[in-house]
Amino acid sequence: MAQSEETTNMQVSMIKAFTDNYIWAISSNATNKIALVDPGDADVCINFIKQQGVQLSSILITHHHADHVGGIEELVAYCQSNGWPITVYGPKNENIPDRNVALSDEDKITLDDLGFEFSIIGVPGHTSGHIAYLSQDNLFCGDTLFSAGCGRLFEGTPAQMLNSLEKLSALPERTRVYCAHEYTLANLNFALTVEPTNSELIHYYNKVIKLREQGTATIPTSILLEKKINPFLRCHTNSMLESVTDLSGEIVADKLTAFTIIRTLKDKF
Ligand SMILES: [Zn+2]
Repeated sequence: MAQSEETTNMQVSMIKAFTDNYIWAISSNATNKIALVDPGDADVCINFIKQQGVQLSSILITHHHADHVGGIEELVAYCQSNGWPITVYGPKNENIPDRNVALSDEDKITLDDLGFEFSIIGVPGHTSGHIAYLSQDNLFCGDTLFSAGCGRLFEGTPAQMLNSLEKLSALPERTRVYCAHEYTLANLNFALTVEPTNSELIHYYNKVIKLREQGTATIPTSILLEKKINPFLRCHTNSMLESVTDLSGEIVADKLTAFTIIRTLKDKF
């Protein structure tokens, strides 16, 4: 898999950070400006900026955790030292360093330098103010939806997270999902304990084993794929309700109960 994805005119590049974080760099062939999503580590971003000869003009933040916001202040200072205007976008209901524009569900923003419009989707659950950014079928969803998994519930309730995941699941199936961590293989190991007979899941697990042996990223994923293999997007299906009934030893007849049970099981996995 290439380290970048071409769309009509948005290009998304991967910057690896810490042990398994992905910082996404959004660019266009019309300008040398870029936007960064969740730059938790400034150093790897500054290296990217120098290597690519690009100018940072926007930072998009999904939620307040340190591995997503930790690089903001150093990057803002770096831009200022270069005389580059910089705008930091982030969730309204969270404490984000140097935030200039506070965003909540259904807001729209345009990154003037890049010419891209983003729709903001409120996705509480992992944190209470978590937002996702959607533009040109590219979804930047932080720690809400992962490939074959979802974020832990640090601040929100299972009902909030299920609702947030349902919003993302309702996006067009072609939507590319740029989440913030490479958790796919561990998530698939858990997913197989929930749906051991899901043939799409088994097939994708075998593919991911090979990809990870080669050190290849499994992100971006897509809404189409996640609807087939991600147990947290499948809680409404009869096969999942039957699986969770078998797992838990109690009759599980609704998606919220199924979601709550598998999220708790995943925490202990
Ligand atoms: Zn987080």
